[in-house]
Order: sequence, then structure tokens, then C-alpha cells
Amino acid sequence: MRVAIQGTHGSFSEAAARRRWPELVTLPCREAADVVAAVREGRAEAGCLPIENSLIGSVTTTYDLLEEAFGDGTLRLTHEILYPVHHTLMAVPGATLAGIRRVLSHPVALGQCRQWLSTHLPDVELVSAWDTAGSAEIVAHEGNPALAAIAARHAADAHGLVPLAERIEDDPTNQTRFLTFTRSDAPALPAAQTGATRYKTSIIVLIDHRPGMLALTLQAFGVRGVNLMALQSRPERSAPWTYRFYVDVDGAASDPRLAEALEEVEALAARVVVLGSYEAWVEGSRLSAPPPTPAHHSKKPEIPLVDRRRAPEGSRVEVRHLVFGGAEPVLIAGPCSVENEAMILETAGAIAQAGGDMLRGGAYKPRTSPYDFQGLGVKGLRYLADARERTGLPVVTEVLSWEEVAVVADFADMLQIGARNMQNFTLLRAASRSGKPVLLKRGAGATIEEWLMAAEYILAEGNPNVVLCERGIRTFERATRHTLDLNAVVMVQERTHLPVIVDPSHAAGVRSLVIPLSLGSLAAGADGLIVEVHPDPSKALSDGAQSLDVPMFAELAAKVHPGRAARARVVAV
Ligand code: PEP
Ligand code: MN
Repeated sequence: MRVAIQGTHGSFSEAAARRRWPELVTLPCREAADVVAAVREGRAEAGCLPIENSLIGSVTTTYDLLEEAFGDGTLRLTHEILYPVHHTLMAVPGATLAGIRRVLSHPVALGQCRQWLSTHLPDVELVSAWDTAGSAEIVAHEGNPALAAIAARHAADAHGLVPLAERIEDDPTNQTRFLTFTRSDAPALPAAQTGATRYKTSIIVLIDHRPGMLALTLQAFGVRGVNLMALQSRPERSAPWTYRFYVDVDGAASDPRLAEALEEVEALAARVVVLGSYEAWVEGSRLSAPPPTPAHHSKKPEIPLVDRRRAPEGSRVEVRHLVFGGAEPVLIAGPCSVENEAMILETAGAIAQAGGDMLRGGAYKPRTSPYDFQGLGVKGLRYLADARERTGLPVVTEVLSWEEVAVVADFADMLQIGARNMQNFTLLRAASRSGKPVLLKRGAGATIEEWLMAAEYILAEGNPNVVLCERGIRTFERATRHTLDLNAVVMVQERTHLPVIVDPSHAAGVRSLVIPLSLGSLAAGADGLIVEVHPDPSKALSDGAQSLDVPMFAELAAKVHPGRAARARVVAV
């Protein structure tokens, strides 16, 4: 195996390439471009170039070569290699540290040993050389015992020098990332010895100067659960003050999610060059779990994923320590909206004390009128997380749009998809991919079939943790806000294995009906309840009329968890 590298024998590139191919024969090249040319012209079977250093960042000379080298498809990237950078001071045999007057190395290596040099060799002259191994070669060639080089340990062996001091770098965590490549028509290389089976893909994207274009491009990966590993911008040489972006993502370009993302980026961007997919170096690089295959790339299952036949005993959905679909109903309570920090902390405290299991509260609110309170957004999410810290109650909160899924999932334990969004399929997919359990409310005008198909979207996208919520449907009746459809509670339990809970607050719209409807729902087999509670419902910024006050909620909690209330009383006595 002949591998072209930049620099001479004993370079870090050579040592890195040897991590993949212990038996390689090196073809030393002066410039990175010469390495590329050697592989193109068939003088070497593979090439190895540094792309990034953990301390100093990108190797821009390599980046600037990438499009020319890989853009036409003649070459393909094959592997990524991480190599720890340890520096050794070396000289001809017989030389001593005290006798050294000049030290040669690549300027970056000299900089990486600055502290050691000023402590141990404060008076020497530091001389920049073309590369580290090349400086070892010069020292060997000169034969002068007053000269030393800083290079990789094995450069001493390669050039007949002896080490005077090892590991002299200031930061021992220093690593360099290399990329290897072959001609595209070369046979596949032997599999990696370290057992890496994960892939990364590198892409160049050129985008038009329009607001949001970079964000849209990156979102194409994010919304499909494709992990972005690195983003680097480089000036566009032919057009001053415009930039191209180098993007590294987790996965191979042929993975269905990445393929779909690339298709979107190609449609969005002025130009896209897929540099190639290559084996990722697993040791030392943190890779996330691969995203599941998107539903529309999988075959339609014979039995729908929500169908009861798939789990006749019913499935359970865990949210922290709570279980939906277990022996006990789960009681979720909280205000319609998070109004301010003090009120959510007060309400959460009262709910925990009364025996509620979980906290609800909207930070993003779907309001009929655009002039009504729209929620506190991220600030509201933070207050909910603080309330969870203080009370131990897990948090469910509504997410209104797919763009906000990531931020809501970062704070909440469970994502609520509201009645108005039950058939927002982009949102259903994005919520599924967040990996968080989803509370899926029934649309006020949705049939049971439509509701279950919405749940199917979430399951098909790879997330099995869905809890259904009946919250009243729109009928001819005007005396109440909606009509609680208890038929549906029983029917969905016959048709699906998913847990189902009831929201009597939105169904009724008036607080006096909430306790009776709650008890009726549990009698009909509901796995839990979600009710609105406000410390002072008359002052609520939304849905005050249907919110329970704290004493009413305590009465409900005692009925939902009778054993627990009794135990609490015994402890209190
Ligand atoms: C809510 O829970 O505050 C809410 C808006 O509910 P729904 O989506 O059921 O109307
Ligand atoms: Mn509400």
C-alpha cells in the first residue's frame, strides 16, 4: 500500500496513516496539492492529509484544496484518522541538551512547545522549517550537535537521531484529524482495524446572500435528526467577501435521512459539492446514535403501528418516574399558561402538595385572537424547568411549530401537540424525532380514525412513546365549550395499545363540570387526566373559567389517588 503524505519520513501524517495501514510505504510530497496529484495520477494508492487540529482549528490549506481535489468525483474520501500530537526534541547522537543552540521545526510545533522551550532552552534560536519531519532531516544532514529538531518521536528513528526530551508539548490533549482518500475507481480499501463502522460525510455549500439561507440549509439536516459535526466557513476566492461553508455531518450520504437532507440542500443552495462519505474514527470522537429511517422511506406495515393487535396487553409510556398505561392513573395539573415565575412556582408547589403527579403549563399558546396573551416562550420553559427542580414534578408543555421542537424538548419531559395542530404533519414528525414522549390531543373536529393516523405518524417516525388525549369535540351543543367524547376513550382503547388520558377542562370550559367528568373518564378506563389549575382563576390570563382553584384540585387529587391521600394523612397525624 503506497500512501502519499505531505512532508518526509517521520511526519505526523505518516504516523497517522500508519494507524490505518501498519504496512504502508510512504510517498513523501512537498505540498498538500502534490499529495492529491500523486493519488490522481496513480503514483500512490491513497493519500493522507491533516484537516483539523484540536488546538489550532482547521488546516486551511487542506480545506482550500478540497473542492478541486474531490469536486469532480475522481477521488473519494475513505477514512478519518485522529492522531495524538506528542512532540520530541531530537539531535544527532552524542548531542546534549546543554549544547543545543538552535531548534528547528514547523512554526505551529514550535508554538505548541513554547513553555517547555522557555523553561529548558531559554537562550536558543528558534528556526521555522517547512515541516516537523523535514527539520529532523536537516538536523541529521548537518550533523551539528548544536542543532535540534522538534518532531514526532518516530522521526528520530527515521533519520538516525536520538531523543533529548519527549512529550515536550504544552498541552498533552493535542490531536490532529486526518482524512485519507483514494481514486474513486480504486477497489475498496481493506476494512479498518479499529472496528469503526460509523460514517461521516463532508459537503461544501455555497449559498446566496439572502436572509436565513444558512439557517435553512442547516435546518435541512437538523429536522431530519442528522447530527452536524462541524461547520467551517472559508472565503470565496473569486468573489471577495462571500463565503463557502464546509459542513461535516454524521452518517453516509446514502443513509435515507441524509440523502433526503442533501436533496433539500441542493434545491436551496447556489451549489453543493458532496466531497464524500468516509469511515469515522470512533475512538475519541463522540458520535450520536443514528437516526431511524424516515417513515416515508419504510414499507407500509401490514398492521398499523398503533393497532392494538401489536400489543394486546397495552403499551406503557414512561415519563421520568411516571408510567402512563400502568396500574395507577397519572394526574397532570397546572395553569393554562405560564404567566410569570412566581405563579408557576406557587401553582406547582400546591399541585405537588395536593398529590398531583405531573405539571402542565403553556409557554407557547395557540390563541384564537392574535391580541391575546401568546405565552412567555423560552422564558416560560425555563420557569417550568425551575418548578420541576423545586417540586420533582415532570413537565408537559405544548409545542406549536416544528421550529420550536428542539428548544421545547430541551426543557420539557413530554411534548404536547395541541388540538389545533393534531394534523400538522411536519410538527408530528419533528416531535417524534425529538425522542421525547408525546401527548397527542385530539383535534376538536377530528374523527377517531384521523386521530389514530396522527399518532401513526409519530410512531412511524421512530418514537413509540405516544399518549393520546381526548379533550372534547365540537358538536351542536353550545352550553359547554366542547363535548367530552367518552365513546372515544373506550373506542381508542379497543383499537390501539396506546395509553389515553382525558382533559375535562377544555372539554367542558367550566370548572363545575371538571371533577364529575374526571371521575367519569376514569370509570370509562382513562389512564390519566390533565386539568387546568390556577391559584386565582379570576385573574388567569387564559382559560380562567375552566381552571380549578387549589382546594378544588386537592379534592380531585384525593379522589384520583385515594390510597395516597389516606397515606399522606396517616403520615401527617
Ligand atoms: C391547552 O392544553 O392549553 C390547550 C390549548 O389545549 P387544546 O389543544 O386541547 O385546546
Ligand atoms: Mn387552556
